[in-house]
Amino acid sequence: MNPDALYERIGALGFRRWYERQLIESHLWFATCFLAIILVAAGLELLTLENGVRDFAFDAALIVGGCALGWHSWRRYVRLMVVAEAIGAQASCGACQHYGFRCVSLERRRIRACCPKCGNQWLLDDPFAAAAS
Ligand SMILES: [Zn+2]
Repeated sequence: MNPDALYERIGALGFRRWYERQLIESHLWFATCFLAIILVAAGLELLTLENGVRDFAFDAALIVGGCALGWHSWRRYVRLMVVAEAIGAQASCGACQHYGFRCVSLERRRIRACCPKCGNQWLLDDPFAAAAS
């Protein structure tokens, strides 16, 4: 996801719903990572040459596939959480402390937010700069 897609998604859903979905999706990736760890453990437990090369290759593929799925889902989990945290930390209005905002525009990779309560506007830092580090 890039700032343009983020701007459109928050604008379409609203901040609170976007934030909620971000957390749900990230935790689904976390659960997937946990299942991948179980897959790797099962593959390691089954890994033996006693049942032939074909079973050994299947168990090895289980381990490799579990590692790949675990790594991918962990990266997705972390990235979604970092972006949600970076946006969520900037979601409070500086004037009235209201939590949440509406998107006004996208200015050089930064979202201009507007407080729905008092109309105060501010620029959000690029969350992908935080996610990249
Ligand atoms: Zn406000």
